[in-house]
Amino acid sequence: MKKIEHIGIAVKDFSTSIPLFEKLLDTSCYKKEGVESEKVNTAFFRKGETKIELLESVEADGVIAKFIEKKGEGIHHIAFEVDDIEAEMERMKREGFILLNEKPKPGADNKLVCFLHPKGTNGVLIELCQEIK
Ligand code: ZN
Repeated sequence: MKKIEHIGIAVKDFSTSIPLFEKLLDTSCYKKEGVESEKVNTAFFRKGETKIELLESVEADGVIAKFIEKKGEGIHHIAFEVDDIEAEMERMKREGFILLNEKPKPGADNKLVCFLHPKGTNGVLIELCQEIK
């Protein structure tokens, strides 16, 4: 693991949350992208080395909609950048962590991603991400 690549925040509505985070971070959202497999829209902000990813559900039964229903808006996951996602997934498996994805899958912002089950990480959803070259 190299560093925190981004922090994912679940929000109800981009039309209020994007201007809110633009004001908070004093920077413009630089990318908006839908991830079909997850039924989410994403919006990215860069601050120094780290990014903030806002997540908005596209459908009422999407993972983000369910998360907000249970826990309300707020921090959804922490994403760590890795050089070799397959090697890191192997290491995680060996260490006994539960992977939510068998194989790396395409995520937002030109990344391959894999999530770890929060059951094994003190309730924190962890994302591993590797830049697609
Ligand atoms: Zn993420």
